[in-house]
Amino acid sequence: MDAGVVDELLSEAMAPVLRDLRSAGIASPRVEDRDWTELPDSVSAMLWSPDGSGVGVHVSRSLQGFERVAMVADQVQEWAIEELWGQAPTNWPMYPHHPDSHPMTATTRDGTAVWACPADRGPFAPIGALRGQLSRLRRLVVLLVRGRPLPMIRGRENVVIAAY
Ligand SMILES: [Zn+2]
Repeated sequence: MDAGVVDELLSEAMAPVLRDLRSAGIASPRVEDRDWTELPDSVSAMLWSPDGSGVGVHVSRSLQGFERVAMVADQVQEWAIEELWGQAPTNWPMYPHHPDSHPMTATTRDGTAVWACPADRGPFAPIGALRGQLSRLRRLVVLLVRGRPLPMIRGRENVVIAAY
């Protein structure tokens, strides 16, 4: 990522969600400075995937810092879900209380950008602070704690331990 080229305001806004991507083991996009919105209030760039596909991201200069973090996290999340499509579960970032359904949504709460459940609006963690909570092992533990069936091993728990 060319942090020195992309507008500092956008780099700062994007840093937390890129940290969460890394925590989840998702490769970061290449970020290219490009003013594709051409709007005075907007700072924009392109996110490029290894396969050559790109999507635009933009934030508003007039928002507060934490609002910009949530705004760009929402757009990077869309990029990530496209990246994961067909390769891994696409509900990133996964909400441990609802691990089998929707991903969390980027929003703001009390002056902080947070990941929250889109259904019950419960905030889960500040954006940028997920720290590998979405790992495969953690997800498995959540399923076990919740007494969910584990489809890949069909109740043979000793196999689960061996496989992980
Ligand atoms: Zn939920």
